[in-house]
Amino acid sequence: MNIKTKFSNGNKVHAIFQGRETGKIRCRVCYGCGEIELDGSKYNCPKCLGHCSARKDGPLKWMGGKSQITIGGIVAIKTANKPQEVSYVQTTVGSSFKERNLFLTLDEAEAECERRNKE
Ligand SMILES: [Zn+2]
Repeated sequence: MNIKTKFSNGNKVHAIFQGRETGKIRCRVCYGCGEIELDGSKYNCPKCLGHCSARKDGPLKWMGGKSQITIGGIVAIKTANKPQEVSYVQTTVGSSFKERNLFLTLDEAEAECERRNKE
């Protein structure tokens, strides 16, 4: 069987994935100082528990691409009546990535994230 793949072993590629952007927002109760004052005594803020901030989850979007992964293995799956699906395995971690989520340059990876996020 002859399998055509976009990348080969040893290629360094950028992977993109779907995730949520998380950021920190300033606590509305203690205004970011982590303490509140009651009758002259200071207490940990009951809202943020003294951490001064709260996590804010953004919408699900395509991101990534910045760090490179090295392809250490190629897995091609061909099922009858379905298009061939090629995945690549990362050498160090062993996680696998689908071909459509990998790009040779950061520019390509970022352009694709932007395109998919507009869909
Ligand atoms: Zn607080």
